[in-house]
Amino acid sequence: MSSTESKMAEVSRRMISAKAEQFTESVIREMTRLAIKHEAVNLSQGFPDFPAPAEIKEAARQAISDDINQYAITWGAKPLRDAIVAKFERTQSVRYDPEREITICCGSTEAMMSAMMAIINPGDEIVVFEPFYENYGPDAILSGASPRFVRMQPPTEENPDWSFDRDELAAAFGKHTKAIILNTPNNPTGKVFTRAELGFIRDLCVRWNAYCVTDEIYEHILYDGTEHVSMAQLEGMRDRTIVINGMSKTYSVTGWRVGWALAPPDTTQAIRKVHDFLTVGAAAPLQQAGASALQSPEAYYRSLAESYTLKRERLLGILGKAGFIVYKPRGAYYIMTDIARFRFPAEDPRFASPTRDVAFAKYLVQEIGVACVPGSSFYREPAHGASQVRFTFCKKEATLAAAEARFSKLLAKS
Ligand code: PLP
Repeated sequence: MSSTESKMAEVSRRMISAKAEQFTESVIREMTRLAIKHEAVNLSQGFPDFPAPAEIKEAARQAISDDINQYAITWGAKPLRDAIVAKFERTQSVRYDPEREITICCGSTEAMMSAMMAIINPGDEIVVFEPFYENYGPDAILSGASPRFVRMQPPTEENPDWSFDRDELAAAFGKHTKAIILNTPNNPTGKVFTRAELGFIRDLCVRWNAYCVTDEIYEHILYDGTEHVSMAQLEGMRDRTIVINGMSKTYSVTGWRVGWALAPPDTTQAIRKVHDFLTVGAAAPLQQAGASALQSPEAYYRSLAESYTLKRERLLGILGKAGFIVYKPRGAYYIMTDIARFRFPAEDPRFASPTRDVAFAKYLVQEIGVACVPGSSFYREPAHGASQVRFTFCKKEATLAAAEARFSKLLAKS
C-alpha cells in the first residue's frame, strides 16, 4: 500500500464508528451470497424455498387492493395487535393489553434491537447462552451492552440434550446484569428449554432484578412431543419478560419482515419510541395479512410441525450418511453437526487452522456445491465452533435430494 493509500485508509477508518468496526457482516447472509455465486444447494440461511400458504398470500393481495397502503399506526395495526394478544393468551395463558403492551416491528430482528436499545444503559451486562443466534452479538454492541456468555455443551450418550452448567449460569449474573437473552426453541442447537431450566433462570432474574428477553420465533416448530413454554408464563416473570416473535418462520414469510415485542407498559413505551424513530412501522398490508394468518386453525400449526419432522429425519439421514456427527434438534429447523470425522490431507493448512469450520464451509460451497454455516459464527471465541457447521432443513424435497447427491463427492474425499 502506498503512503497516500494508507493515509486514506487511516482517515476512512476514523470516519467509521467504533461500534460498526466491532462486528463483521453476517456470516449466514454471506453464505447465501456464496451459494448463489457457486450455484450451490443452499442449506445455510433459514428461509423456506417452498411457497408460503395460499390463504396468507391472498390476504396480502386483498389488503393492497383494499388500499391498506399508507403508514400503519407506528406501534402496529390494531387487527394484528389484537390477533397476537389473543393467540398468546390461547397458547401461553398470559394476557397482554394490545393498547399498551405490544409493538409491531420490521421483523423480530428489529423488535430485538429496539428492545435492547430501550433497556440498556452504559455498563449494563447481558447474559447470553452460546452457541447463540448470530444477531445477538451485534445487537449487544449496537445497544452498548456487555455480553457474558454461558456455554451450552453438545449432547452426549448420557445426556441427549444441549445442557448448561447451573453454577456457571448463576456466576454470570450480578449487580450489572440487565437481562438474559433466551432463545427457545433454539437456533442453532434445536434445544427447547424445559420448565425446570426456565424456573432456574427465572430465579436468577428475580434475584438480580433482570429482564428476560426471550426470542420465541420457532415456537411452533417442535419435535418428539416437546412443549414450548414462554418465560412470560412463569410466576413472577410476566412483568420482567420481553417476548420477541414474528411471522417469518411460523408462516414461511421471512421476506415480509413482520415481528413484534410483548412487554409490560413502561418497557413497551420505551420500545415504541425506539421503534418509531428507527423504522416508523412495518409494511401496512402485510400487517393486515398477518392478522388473518394469526387466526389460522390449530391444524395449520400441527401440519407445519409434522412437515418439518419429516424434513428433519431426511436431513439427519443425509448428513449421517455423508459422515457428519449430527446433533438431533428438538425444535427449530437446523442441525448442528461436528466435522471431526472428516480427514483432509495433513499438508493442507486450511483444515488444521483454528478456523477449520470456515475452511470446511468454503470447501463445501465451492467444491462440493452445498452451503452451510461455519460453527464459529455462533460463538464469541471462534475456536469453540471450529469443529461445527450448521445446516437448515426448511427446504423442499428436491433441494434436500440435490444436497444428498452432491454429498456423494464429499464421501469420496473424506
Ligand atoms: N431470531 C432467531 C433465533 C432466528 O433464527 C431468526 C432468523 O433466522 C430471527 C430471529 C430473524 O427473524 P425475523 O425474520 O423475524 O427478523
